[in-house]
Amino acid sequence: MTKRITILGSTGSIGQSTLDIVRKSDRSRFDVVALTANKNAKLLAEQAIEFNVKYVALADNRNANTLKEMLNGFDVEIGIGPEALIEAASYKTEFCMAAIIGAAGLEPTLAAVNQGINIGLANKECIVTAGDLFTKCVIEKGSKLLPVDSEHNAIFQVLDTEKPNGVRRLILTASGGPFLNTSLDNLSMVTKNSALKHPVWNMGAKISIDSATLMNKGLELIEASYLFSRPSKEIDIIIHPQSIVHSMVEYIDGSILAQLGSPDMRTPISYSMAWPNRIDAHVERLDLTTMNDLTFFKPDLEKFPALNLARYALETGGAAPCVINAANEVAVDAFLQDKIRYLDIVRIIDRVLNQYSSRNDLKAKMLTIEEIISKDNEVRTMTNEHINKII
Ligand code: NDP
Repeated sequence: MTKRITILGSTGSIGQSTLDIVRKSDRSRFDVVALTANKNAKLLAEQAIEFNVKYVALADNRNANTLKEMLNGFDVEIGIGPEALIEAASYKTEFCMAAIIGAAGLEPTLAAVNQGINIGLANKECIVTAGDLFTKCVIEKGSKLLPVDSEHNAIFQVLDTEKPNGVRRLILTASGGPFLNTSLDNLSMVTKNSALKHPVWNMGAKISIDSATLMNKGLELIEASYLFSRPSKEIDIIIHPQSIVHSMVEYIDGSILAQLGSPDMRTPISYSMAWPNRIDAHVERLDLTTMNDLTFFKPDLEKFPALNLARYALETGGAAPCVINAANEVAVDAFLQDKIRYLDIVRIIDRVLNQYSSRNDLKAKMLTIEEIISKDNEVRTMTNEHINKII
């Protein structure tokens, strides 16, 4: 049966890989119904024409005319502005790929969850920002979250959810990013270009910087806790520079189950799209006989303080994950605009967290979308104030 799909963030790295899987699949397998982007009207229009979609949404209205001109004469409805993304996510489909970057993806992804459909969850920031609300909605609406982050996808594949008492811990692997072997002293001098060059994965700019600070692994720690209902103490992070073992589950009898694969996001993306079946993801196959150097070691928490910050936020709960996520998004953006240096990113998040907790009850649960958006905005303003102090 043909599966109708929507892709939120179709012009991004995950969005384009998702379309690549559709392109290489049997024509009858997937029907792409709706696509969304922020600014990239040209690529969005090209995708709409290639996949003959019914609806496209562009969040930023500045390129609306380009989109309208390129789609003139085609049978496709066009929506402009953030509400149009929610409309796209509300289109009747069987699967939605949530691949917008950042908390901007929260409301559209929740609109897809409200349909009670299967969600390919790449947009980790939305579950970090609104974990309590998000998981509550998923349960109430009968939606199924299919993790796309390679680590969570690996755990999803090897976790025995029917016998949770047999699980001792989840083990998230981390490549360590581009600065794994850079000394703490030299981290003060690293450049934007070196931070953007991930040694293994080819990804969008924001997640590449998150991988360089290891905040990406911190966000993944929080994501894993919400997705698999496990407390912080049952989730470990270990460095595995080759990114072949994507993550593991340790059971109480001493067994450790792992999922392995080439470091190519099309494997977890295709898994989420085809679940509970499997399809050819057209990725390079692993030749285990050439894998002589799979290494694993503990992360250096002094060099990568983002890990402790994220763990603190997870253990504190309430607004804390939302605070570190919003502060991180603003600080990473400032770094990408050359306003601050690499080491400033985590320093600023730490200061914002302290300032926020001196004014608010950090542990208070946030269960309405209005409250979450208001707190997210408050933290963004606070973070910009900290950035302005150092530029
Ligand atoms: P990209 O930056 O490559 O793409 C982001 C997508 O979101 C684009 O379509 C972009 O549109 C759109 N977008 C950006 N800002 C907004 C906004 N304010 N409102 C609406 N849409 C917006 O990101 P990635 O594909 O790298 O990452 C997407 C998500 O997947 C992230 O949460 C990331 O953590 C996660 N992820 C990514 C992996 C990867 O390999 N890339 C691996 C694992 C997880 P436009 O192109 O017009 O700017």
